Amino acid sequence: MGMVELELISGLTRELASEQSVESVARRGLLHLLRAAGVGSGAVFLHDESRGELRLVASHGLPLCLLRELNRQKLTPAVAAHLDLVALCGGDELSARRLAATATIPLALVDRLLGVVILFAPAGSDLSLIGGGEFRVLGDILAVVLDKTLLAAERDRCLQASHQIRLKADQTAALLRISRRLTESLKLEAVLTSVLEEATLFLNATAGALHLRRGDRISLAATWGAEEALRSAADLAERAINLGETVMGHVETRAFLTVPLVPRANCIGALTCLREGLYGFSEEDRAFLRTLAAHAAMAIENARLHEEAEEQSVRDALTGLYNVRRLQLRLAEELRRAERYRRELSFLMLDIDHFKRYNDTYGHLQGDRVLRRVADVVTQNVRTVDQVFRYGGEEICVLLPETPRLKAMLVAERIRIAVAACSFSGEDGQDLGRVTVSVGVASFPHDAATPQELIARADAALYRAKAQGRNQVAAAAAGEPGPIQASTVTTSSSGLLGR
Ligand code: GH3
Ligand code: MG
Ligand code: MG
Repeated sequence: MGMVELELISGLTRELASEQSVESVARRGLLHLLRAAGVGSGAVFLHDESRGELRLVASHGLPLCLLRELNRQKLTPAVAAHLDLVALCGGDELSARRLAATATIPLALVDRLLGVVILFAPAGSDLSLIGGGEFRVLGDILAVVLDKTLLAAERDRCLQASHQIRLKADQTAALLRISRRLTESLKLEAVLTSVLEEATLFLNATAGALHLRRGDRISLAATWGAEEALRSAADLAERAINLGETVMGHVETRAFLTVPLVPRANCIGALTCLREGLYGFSEEDRAFLRTLAAHAAMAIENARLHEEAEEQSVRDALTGLYNVRRLQLRLAEELRRAERYRRELSFLMLDIDHFKRYNDTYGHLQGDRVLRRVADVVTQNVRTVDQVFRYGGEEICVLLPETPRLKAMLVAERIRIAVAACSFSGEDGQDLGRVTVSVGVASFPHDAATPQELIARADAALYRAKAQGRNQVAAAAAGEPGPIQASTVTTSSSGLLGR
C-alpha cells in the first residue's frame, strides 16, 4: 500500500473516530463507501449477536417503504446477501429496479462479524469492484472504529448505571437513617430539626427551611443554615403548598428546591433546600427530596397530632383553660424553680359568686357561656408567663411566677373588677345579668412551702372572702390551715384594703 493510501486511511480513521455516536460513525463511513463506489444508496447494519439479527443503524438514499421493511424484518447476514427487493419495496417495481443491484461489504473484526454495509445500484450496474481489497480495507476501518465507539458507549452506559446504583444505595441508606431518626421523637421541634438536617446534608445544601400550614396561615417553622439566604423561601413554599407541586429554580445566584409535604390528602407544608451559586439541583436531587418529604410529612403529621393530643389532655374542654392535671405539674415545677432562685410566687383561687343561683335563673347553658367569658377575662388580665387553670366547677386558679403577694393581690383585684364590669345579654339583646367573683391569694414562701399548702391557703382565703360578703379578694391569713407567717390582707369591692 502506497503513502497516499496510508494517508487516506489514517485521515478516514481520524475522521470517523471524531464522531461521538455509533450512528454518526456509521453514517459518515457509509458516505465514504458510497463515494468510493460511485453509487447513491446504501445502509449500514450492525449484527446483534445475542439475537442473530442485523439492526439498521444508518442509511442514505433509500425510500421510506424500504427502510420500514428493513427495520421491521429480521434480517440475518445470510438473508442480507440476497435481498428480495421487489418484496421489500412493497411491490414498488420502480424503486426495486433502481436498487436492484446490491453489493455487500462485511464489517469484519478479527474474531467476528460486526455487521454489513449494503450498497444499492440500479439494475444492471456492475458492482464487481466493490468486492475488491480497497472496499474490504474501508470496511475493516469502519468496523474497528464502530467497535471502539460501541465499546465506549457500553462503558458509558456501565459507568452511568454504576453511578445510579451507588446513588440509589446512598439514598436508600440515607432514607433508612432518616426514617429511623424521625421515629425517635414525637416532639415536633425535634422532628423538624431532623428533617432539615438530613435533607440539607444529603443534598449538600447551604441552607434549608420548613414552612407549615395551620388553617390558612403558612409560617416558617424551622430553618437550618444562613437565615438571610432563605428570604425567598416563603414565596416558594407558598407556591409549592398551594399547587401541591415541587418548585425548582433560581433566585439571583441561589438555586432553590421546594417540595410539598403531603402526609395524606392535604398539603401541610413545604421543605426547601438552597444552594449558593448557579449550580442547581438535579432531577435526582428532586426525586430524593420528594421521597424524603413523604417520610417527613408523616413524621411531622404524627408529631403534630401527638402534640395536639397532649395539649388537649391538659386542657379543659369547656373553657380551654389548663386542667388540674396540668396545674399539679406546673405548680410543682414553679415551686422548685422559685425555691432554687429564691423568688416569690403567688397563687390565686377564684370562684364565681352565687353561681348556682345564676344557673337557676338563666339556665345552665347560659351559665356555661358566663364561665367561658370569666375564663377569658382572667386570661386577658394576667401576663403570658402566668398560667390559668380550671380547678373544677366554676373555680379558676392562676399561677403567677416571680410575683410577690401584694402584686398578686393587685392582679386579683384587677380581675375582680373586670368580671364585675361584664354584662351578659342574649341573642335578642335581653339582659342576662351579671356575676361577681371572690378570690383567695396565697404566696410562696410567705404562706406556704408546698403545692398542697399553697392551694389550701388560697382556698381558705377564698372561703373567707365568701364569708365576708363575696365580690372581694382575700389573702391567706394566720390561723387558717398550714404554717402562717404573716398578717392578713384583704380587699373588698371598694378597693384594695390593707389590714
Ligand atoms: P358561692 O360560690 O358564692 O358560695 O355560691 P355558688 O352558688 O357559686 O356555690 P358553689 O360555688 O358551691 O356552687 C357551684 C355551682 O356552680 C354549682 C353549679 O350550678 C355551678 N357550676 C359548676 N360548674 C359548672 C359548669 O361547668 N357550668 C355551669 N353552667 N355551672 C356550673
Ligand atoms: Mg361559686
Ligand atoms: Mg364553687
